[in-house]
Amino acid sequence: MSTSTMPQDKIHAVPSTPTQYIYFFGGGKAEGNGKMKDALGGKGAGLAEMTNAALPVPPGFTIQTEACREYMRSGKVSPEIDRQMDEAMHRLETLQGQHLGRGDNPLLVSVRSGAKFSMPGMMDTILNLGLNDQSVAALAERSKSARFAYDSYRRLIQMFGSVVLEIPKSEFEEVFDAKKKQKKAKLDMDLDAKALQEVVAEYKKVVKKHAKRDFPQDPRESWENDRAKYYRRINNISDDLGTAVNVQAMVFGNLGETSGTGVGFTRNPATGDREFYGEFLMNAQGEDVVAGIRTPVPILELERVMPKVYGELREITSRLEKHYKDMQDFEFTIQEGRLYMLQTRNGKRTGRAAVRIGIHMVEEGLITKEEAIFRVEPNQLYDFLVPRLDEKASKIEVLAKGLPASPGAAVGQIVFSADAAVKKAGPADKRVPVILVRAETTPEDIHGMQVAAGILTSRGGMTSHAAVVTRGMGKCCVVGAGDLAVSEKDGEMRVGKQVFREGDWISVDGTTGRVIKGKLNTLAASPDNSELRTFMAWAEPFRTLRVRANADIPPDAIQARAFGAEGIGLCRTEHMFFATDRIPHMRTMIMARTEKDRRAALKRLLPMQRKDFIGIFRVMDGFPVTIRTLDPPLHEFLPRREELMVEIAVLEATKPKSPKLKGLRTVLQRVEELHEFNPMLGHRGCRLGISYPEITEMQARAIFEAAVAVAQDGVKVLPEVMIPLTGTRQEMANQAAVVRRVADEVFAEKKKRVEYMVGTMIELPRAALVADEIAQEAEFFSFGTNDLTQTTFGFSRDDINKFLPDYIEQGILKQDPFAVLDREGVGQLVKMATDKGRKSRSNLKVGICGEHGGDPSSVEFCHQIGLNYVSCSPFRVLTARLAAAQAAASDKLKVEGGRTK
Ligand code: PEP
Ligand code: MG
Repeated sequence: MSTSTMPQDKIHAVPSTPTQYIYFFGGGKAEGNGKMKDALGGKGAGLAEMTNAALPVPPGFTIQTEACREYMRSGKVSPEIDRQMDEAMHRLETLQGQHLGRGDNPLLVSVRSGAKFSMPGMMDTILNLGLNDQSVAALAERSKSARFAYDSYRRLIQMFGSVVLEIPKSEFEEVFDAKKKQKKAKLDMDLDAKALQEVVAEYKKVVKKHAKRDFPQDPRESWENDRAKYYRRINNISDDLGTAVNVQAMVFGNLGETSGTGVGFTRNPATGDREFYGEFLMNAQGEDVVAGIRTPVPILELERVMPKVYGELREITSRLEKHYKDMQDFEFTIQEGRLYMLQTRNGKRTGRAAVRIGIHMVEEGLITKEEAIFRVEPNQLYDFLVPRLDEKASKIEVLAKGLPASPGAAVGQIVFSADAAVKKAGPADKRVPVILVRAETTPEDIHGMQVAAGILTSRGGMTSHAAVVTRGMGKCCVVGAGDLAVSEKDGEMRVGKQVFREGDWISVDGTTGRVIKGKLNTLAASPDNSELRTFMAWAEPFRTLRVRANADIPPDAIQARAFGAEGIGLCRTEHMFFATDRIPHMRTMIMARTEKDRRAALKRLLPMQRKDFIGIFRVMDGFPVTIRTLDPPLHEFLPRREELMVEIAVLEATKPKSPKLKGLRTVLQRVEELHEFNPMLGHRGCRLGISYPEITEMQARAIFEAAVAVAQDGVKVLPEVMIPLTGTRQEMANQAAVVRRVADEVFAEKKKRVEYMVGTMIELPRAALVADEIAQEAEFFSFGTNDLTQTTFGFSRDDINKFLPDYIEQGILKQDPFAVLDREGVGQLVKMATDKGRKSRSNLKVGICGEHGGDPSSVEFCHQIGLNYVSCSPFRVLTARLAAAQAAASDKLKVEGGRTK
């Protein structure tokens, strides 16, 4: 039994049963198991589980986390740990019939750390431990490749040197680069065996110089003396977590024509189809596959090359699926005709694949419908909404065909580096579509991949970095388009005789793998998919939280209904005023100096607003529609001060008599009057309606006239008038009175009443603090968590990106609080205001309409604190529906970590 969780005093109190520090795995049995992540770390637990599932895993042992913690407490490795480790190494040698670093067939091992959670930057790995001046010759002989043997040896010295002997990595890199220069080698691969032998000799000198000792030739010596140093060097271990260390026999896929290596999936990760999927290379090691120097072969071909191994692999992988009850992403190596499974994990997949696999697995009896609900990440549903290329409308010139790594279509301007992608794409709200084009991507490209509309690579397979990462992101990607010659250095992409440079437009089809010249139109996806419907029909009955959409104009409302929105949670009426036929009236209204003039301008806006409301009410027949009165500061509707000044200066210089000048000067004067140092905290929200009640009156009239009109046609209309940015009961009372008065006027005029509500947005901490008072006047609350986050943190929602990256990097914030609701602070206010509000008014309807309304974690929180609904942009409605269903289902089914117990 593991004592890792046992308090120290207890360990000492039972001296007769020494702690089991080492857990062996191999020969079909493991001492640990998959549940022991605390003691064995994620990787160690995985190795134990794979071994217990009778998979041919290269044997080895895991040194449990308690050994590490003990080292951190005492600064030394205890004799008992040493004893157990020696015993385990001996057992490994016996099982393998090999000796560590000795004989014709020397045992070589890898050493890897692995904590309970994978922590970036923490994994310190040493491969090929056991190589020395003798065993390197034996490896050269067995692999028939002196180049490979010496390359492995120099890597060992380098890894051991930096991890254990603490020699800066740059010392080794300098030697290596100098050798490449001397031999005129472009790539690492261009160095031959002799050159690598010279590198080994020079690396040894580096060791001698810095560590004042020779590189250990006795593998036992390096093994025994340096384990403590290994612990010391592992980065970022939290003291109470500790790390486990896995020691495992190395296997090689490059020991001739009966050896090989590959990766695969038990089902197609792009479509979810039931097909064995992957690629391999004979006489190769993993790196050859990744480096793209040799093109891997489809895995089905293995049946022809090595039928027996293929059969075994099929048998093992289908067993794996049954064992883990999920699609697996596996790595294997064949060493001299013998199959080894190196790793298996739940495979990443597209949203469409996730839904299909979930449905298939229920059909196959592998999982229940309830379990299937948790097999799709809410954000992945976005996949069903990804656009397709409009093939009919445009001429199509296919430049190249690659692998359809991640579905959807992307149209954008070419960029050749992640930094260029970020630069060209611009800020999130004004994003310019870019396609990141690279030979292949690496983890260093993530920031560029995040902002790009699509990714295109000339190399790599369906399991390449670009493919795996974009599938997780739900982003369109084509990989391995071999007809493209991409030169990041020269900033160009060549196809035959055509050359494309940064800024040129291309269209990428991630569903078929086509790369198309120019800027095609895209068609919005239709979420009307039968598998999606089946899946949602399993999830939806659990959901208790309503999901509405933020929509400002009738077309958005139609879209929202198509995605299943149950009403509108926020209609930002100001968006109706920006249309070219409306903004002049809005400006006249703002320019007016008297109430009379203002009313005259508002009268012209009234029919336009009414028409929009009629459109929205019709679409939302039977569902509530929350309409917010005017919110932004008025200057946002006027031209920018600087632009006006330039226009005036130009006219003064060129046409000083122009009649336009007078008007422009008046506008400039008004812009200057309206100027505020901090408009976000300025004359906006309900403050506008309090200063100019005629604005609220006009809007209320438009709403109620529209409501009565559609109600007369038999449409069920449920208007909810929402006052923004209140902070006091009096503000709410003031505006509610205007709305109710106008409602009565309209109902009297039209001789028809409709049911309606008047409520408020809660966007200020004060509003949350006095929510019980505000609720005396307001019939509903809707949390404007964009502003509430801004006002609670005091972070400007428009400028946070100036410092957010520093905050994330330094761990001050875990995520952007404008994307994921800060449960601790802002969330506390939301909960408190809800509770207080409902104390005053027990049937208070409460929702949220900030950006958080479409974020799965925030939706879960809203469910947990008992809100009535969330409201989000139409494209996130499906995501919110699933997130809300999962939150409710996990309450009901008592699930943890997405699995039914
Ligand atoms: C909010 O503040 O959360 C909100 C929905 O309003 P807006 O984004 O329009 O300020
Ligand atoms: Mg707001």
